[in-house]
Amino acid sequence: MDAVKVKNPAEPEFHQAAHEVAESLLLVFEQHPEYRSARVLERALEPERVLMFRVPWMNDRGEVQVNRGFRIEMNSAIGPYKGGLRFHPSVNLGILKFLAFEQVFKNSLTTLPMGGGKGGSDFDPKGKSDSEVMRFCQSFMSELYRHIGPNTDVPAGDIGVGGREIGYLFGQYKRLANEFTGILTGKGINWGGSLIRPEATGYGSVYFAREMLKTRNQDFADKVCLVSGSGNVAQYTVEKLIELGARPVTLSDSSGYIYDEVGIDAEKLNFVMELKNNRRGRISEYAEKFTSAVFTESDATLDHNPIWNHRAECAFPSATQNEINAKDAANLLSNGVTVVSEGANMPTTTEGVDLFTDAQILYGPGKAANAGGVAVSGLEMAQNSMRYSWTREEVDQRLQMIMSEIHASCVNAAERFGTPGNYVNGANIAGFLKVADAMIDQGVV
Ligand code: NDP
Repeated sequence: MDAVKVKNPAEPEFHQAAHEVAESLLLVFEQHPEYRSARVLERALEPERVLMFRVPWMNDRGEVQVNRGFRIEMNSAIGPYKGGLRFHPSVNLGILKFLAFEQVFKNSLTTLPMGGGKGGSDFDPKGKSDSEVMRFCQSFMSELYRHIGPNTDVPAGDIGVGGREIGYLFGQYKRLANEFTGILTGKGINWGGSLIRPEATGYGSVYFAREMLKTRNQDFADKVCLVSGSGNVAQYTVEKLIELGARPVTLSDSSGYIYDEVGIDAEKLNFVMELKNNRRGRISEYAEKFTSAVFTESDATLDHNPIWNHRAECAFPSATQNEINAKDAANLLSNGVTVVSEGANMPTTTEGVDLFTDAQILYGPGKAANAGGVAVSGLEMAQNSMRYSWTREEVDQRLQMIMSEIHASCVNAAERFGTPGNYVNGANIAGFLKVADAMIDQGVV
């Protein structure tokens, strides 16, 4: 870890992700020194390629704007690079490297042949007109298009990149390459997209939690659930929770969160989807519309996030990294939470993770719990290659099967390496072994 920090200064999120994986792998290296002598982890920590580029564009007032674009091509040992694009002002090299590193193990867990990558820009789509977003996406793709391809690197969406952005990016790729190929996933259903892709991460996170609950002979009936975020992952998490008889009571955005004690039902969720996906408004409007809800504004001076301080049985962090710190984790535990399924990537700090694992609750780390999104992206690639589409039921069946296989791999790996019930070790080890073996087979490249 000292070497990682020296070589990658000022990238705390990347150090955090690397540390978590390295700690789990100590259990493997004791039994399998061949991975250590082949320096597999050291190689996996070094991206195969990092692209960084200027993205100039013009706003509606005719003023020139300049953003920075990135693509981290992290590991292609088991398939083409695959991972989302994030458009958010906080995006920097370290954040994308942490996401790309996690993605490698996550993709390996899905059982599908996908390597790991991640990309994005510090562009903020919030408050921009559709024309501005389109001009930005076109400029971004004007550089990225020469580096990606259906057998090389296939990006998708992430924070700030939804259906609208994927459409503009795909249109520009097609125009430049003069090719209609599956170079992005999350495409519209009329032009190569897969049914269930928008739902997949949220549904998958709930399916993963359902598998964890089964190990204790429980289900979702009447379970009170805290959900953060109100974007793609949060919306479909809530949808599936309602369907399975649970009671989701919170949603958030960067301005604050709503707590609706009687529960968010299908009608209220429709309002949120319209608010967030079409009107692009703030979650506070939920509390103006539904009197059962209370809105609490974000307060950066607090040492904790009050969304995690309500009585509940389950928590689905689905907004962003490090949104649960040690105090939040302690609050969740003392409020009765026994299931945490991470829809977001690395939403819990290292100290928070330690509290969850010490308490032996059902804690599903992001790289396992939110792998449903990339899994259905993999299914979208398969459908594109066949020039054929599966039905909603077929894709959903496959998603459920994949989440259940991921769960089983985590349980088995955790047990095999002496830490039964520890999904963090299970996910890191199961994800690593497949990639590591492929890297050794392919020689020093
Ligand atoms: P969206 O952009 O659709 O939604 C993100 C939500 O999180 C918004 O409500 C946003 O609020 C909130 N949010 C984002 N950043 C912050 C922040 N710094 N502080 C507080 N709130 C924040 O993104 P997704 O739902 O797609 O992604 C959510 C998480 O899930 C991310 O961690 C992503 O990496 C992860 N993920 C997503 C997958 C996918 O398929 N989309 C797959 C696997 C993981 P606001 O609008 O105010 O910014």
